[in-house]
Amino acid sequence: MIGALTTLAAGDGTAILGRQGSDVVYLIASIFFILGIKGLTHPRTAVRGNQFGAFGMLLAVLATVLGPAAAGHAFDPTMIVIGIAIGAVIGGLAAIRVQMTGMPQMVAIFNGFGGIASAFVAGGAFLLAIGTEMSLQGNIAIGVSGMIGSVTFTGSIVAFFKLLDLRSLRKFPSAIPGQRFLNALLFLGAIAACVWLVQDSENTTTYWTVCALAAVLGVTLTTPIGGADMPVVIALLNSYSGLAAAATGFVIDNNVLIVSGSLVGASGVILTAIMCKAMNRSLPNVIFGKLGPSADGPSADDVYGGKVKSASPDEVAMLFDGAQRVVIVPGYGMAVAQAQHTVRDLTNLLEAMDITVEFAIHPVAGRMPGHMNVLLAEADIDYDKLKEMDEINPTFGQVDVALVIGANDVVNPVARTDPNSPIAGMPILDVDKARTVVVVKRSLSPGFAGIPNPLFAMDNTYMMFGDGKKAIMELNAVLKENA
Ligand code: NDP
Repeated sequence: MIGALTTLAAGDGTAILGRQGSDVVYLIASIFFILGIKGLTHPRTAVRGNQFGAFGMLLAVLATVLGPAAAGHAFDPTMIVIGIAIGAVIGGLAAIRVQMTGMPQMVAIFNGFGGIASAFVAGGAFLLAIGTEMSLQGNIAIGVSGMIGSVTFTGSIVAFFKLLDLRSLRKFPSAIPGQRFLNALLFLGAIAACVWLVQDSENTTTYWTVCALAAVLGVTLTTPIGGADMPVVIALLNSYSGLAAAATGFVIDNNVLIVSGSLVGASGVILTAIMCKAMNRSLPNVIFGKLGPSADGPSADDVYGGKVKSASPDEVAMLFDGAQRVVIVPGYGMAVAQAQHTVRDLTNLLEAMDITVEFAIHPVAGRMPGHMNVLLAEADIDYDKLKEMDEINPTFGQVDVALVIGANDVVNPVARTDPNSPIAGMPILDVDKARTVVVVKRSLSPGFAGIPNPLFAMDNTYMMFGDGKKAIMELNAVLKENA
């Protein structure tokens, strides 16, 4: 490999792979990318999907280094090896060390790296092209790549820090007066700079102006968005990073970059749409609006006053006597409490009592897409027990006990009944239709949407107050004692 690179490094124009050869390898790499994305659609095939994607990327890198595009330029092969080594160490360490709860931050920062890499490659191509004849299409692609890449980079950095939720950052204002006007101005300014770049492609200031305006736009667009809405923004930024890569593919005439960038761009848009639909909110509402209680909504006192019943772990254990079917509904609180392993132990105990246990998964339960699936998979809970909302909802009438652990908005029946509620129309898990409902949470405080939940005050509901992990551990202890 190094030998081949060294031959190429001479830059004498002899490529190991011709244009056709590298295009065939790019095509094979693209097939692996598509298989990779297909695999990532289900937890069972996700690891293989990831491996397919990584293998496709290896093929694409080899075809580029051994192909005609590299043959025309003198380059130092050790730089490529050093680059691969640094990337492998950072990626490897991140994969081993980052906790499941830190995944959204990691995705955010990696998106940002993708965006800035595209902006740098386009900038490099722009510098190299000075003094030569660059096509109109090439110049437009350079401007687009610099613009989207820079927005993605700074937007992702802001998203990263928001998701870290550092106490010291909370004192900074998140809304700037005249925010939308400023955003519109920055956007139009960046477009104008792109037009300037196309007309004066010998002038490097044009490119840096595009990047600078877009970088500020990335900050002003992302800063006002609430921390809990960040997953939607990350899906969107992910799609931007793909579009920036696709534009860079046009700049350097690289087919696999165009294909892979378009795949990332399209899948990011689809994921964003799925999440907005699951929250019954429009994308502009997520980006520019705030989710919160409306002034005329019922107060917590109205909803809960004297109607809430609490139950101890001993009492809840008794509810399982004679139960045949139990559905566990995990939510954000289960992630906060890191209760997934304890929940797995509970599942084993209930199954030992001949009870069928299933998990009802809401698409936006938690704070990132697939949050609950990832946590339950980490605790080795069988995928077959995980049921999607549409599959399980019609069956709640036949559920003996619905055990809600740290979920709130995704089981709030006002989404069905109150058209003025901020979550009106959001599809929810119909746990209120189960024979008995047990809700595990620390208090009656609201979830992300900030509204009271009448489920907690229903006749068939018992609240088991406490930290998710601790409460389930206590319940497990009672069940073991009774076994
Ligand atoms: P919610 O945010 O509605 O509620 C979580 C509940 O968990 C709280 O009421 C809290 O109550 C409880 N909780 C917190 N910590 C603990 C703990 N240690 N032990 C036990 N309970 C705890 O979560 P849901 O999962 O029901 O809903 C997700 C919300 O996030 C939806 O509104 C969704 O639209 C939104 N969202 C989701 C995104 C995603 O990608 N998944 C993206 C953007 C938004 P208490 O403090 O009393 O314990």
